[in-house]
Parts: sequence; structure tokens; C-alpha cells
Amino acid sequence: MQTILVIEDEMPILVAIEDVLSDAGYSVLTARNGQQGLKYALEENYHLIILDLMLPRLDGLTLLKRLRKQDPHVPVIILTAKSQEMDKVIGFNSGADDYMIKPFGIHELVARVKVRLKNAQVHTQMLENYELEGITFDFKAVRAYQGKKKLNFSVKELELLQYLISHKGRAVSREKILEDVWKYNMDQAPLTRSVDNYILKLRQKVEKNPERPKHLLTVHSKGYCFED
Ligand code: CA
Repeated sequence: MQTILVIEDEMPILVAIEDVLSDAGYSVLTARNGQQGLKYALEENYHLIILDLMLPRLDGLTLLKRLRKQDPHVPVIILTAKSQEMDKVIGFNSGADDYMIKPFGIHELVARVKVRLKNAQVHTQMLENYELEGITFDFKAVRAYQGKKKLNFSVKELELLQYLISHKGRAVSREKILEDVWKYNMDQAPLTRSVDNYILKLRQKVEKNPERPKHLLTVHSKGYCFED
């Protein structure tokens, strides 16, 4: 299931968006001020973010600038009340992918969301090399070494590790891992346990103490997170 973060302080609009996106089959998380919205946006990877500009605590444009420093690729659709604000958005080259001027048709919004999600690809900058616990990972060549000795990692193990390392410090859900690493469509193949099995195997291979992992961490009710 694709996850969308909606940051909007006007309750009727927020509720309407949440309802219509849930009906369309998306998982929706909401925030009602800019500070909370930024926190959510930085903590986890979303497939798309819908962002109101006029927000308490932190305005939408500032939020977007801070978000873009860490995540240049997540699609963002901006909601704005006035066309004057819109001029600002365009003038500041804010990093938004699309915008809607209020009042807008809710179904128009869903249509735009669908287009954005279709166009969005996995854009995360994937690391090509990494050193961990004395092991050198060459993800490009799909190899792992300890000194000169080649270690036995499967292609999928290395892809999963590369993916998690590339998302270092951020929790990634099993569903998102399956979608991005296994390329499954979640509606068809809810095999989240295979992710767990791979994590167990990877822990055996890279953790000093696999029972008490330091790098491949389980984040309760969220998924997995890589830490140095
Ligand atoms: Ca507002």
C-alpha cells in the first residue's frame, strides 16, 4: 500500500482529503502543523506528501526547503489559498512538484496524486560502496569482501543491505522494502515475512552479535532501520 502524508491545519479539508485518499486505497498519515509535519516527513519515507502553505508553527515553504535538503525526490503537491501565494511558490523555486489552488475539487486532487505516484520512481541515491564491521561491500559489482576473501552474500541480500544503508537512520516499512527491493506490488504479494527472513540472514553475516543487532535494527510497528 502506498503511503501519503497530508500536512494541513484546516480540519474539514484535512478530513476530506484523508477520506478520499483512503477510499482510493492509500494509507494516509496526517499532521496539523508545520513542525509536526516536518518531523513526520523526515522520520519516514512516504510515497507522496500533500502540503498546505499556511500552517501554524512552521510555514509550508520553509518546511519544504528543509525537507528537500534531506529528501530531494519525494513528490510534493502544494495546497494554497491564494494565487498570490502561488506566485511566491513559483518565484522561490520551492521544490514542489505540483500545486492546487483552494478551493479545489477533491477528485481533481486524487487524479493529480495518481499521476505523481505513477511518475515517481525510486530515486533514492543508492550507495555503491560501504564498509561495515570489517566487511567491504561493493554493491555495484554485487560483491562483499573481508580483506581479500570474497564473502558469500546472495544478490538479494546485498540489494536489501544496500537499500537499507542508503536509507540510513530512517525506518523503512516491510511493505516499502518489498516494493522497492523485491519490486512487488503490495496488493498482490503481501509477503512481509520474507523481509524478516532476509534481515535475520543479514544479521548473521554482518552483526558481531546477531541476537543484539547494532546495525540492522527493528523499529517497533514501523519496520527496519540501518544505523552505523
Ligand atoms: Ca492552512
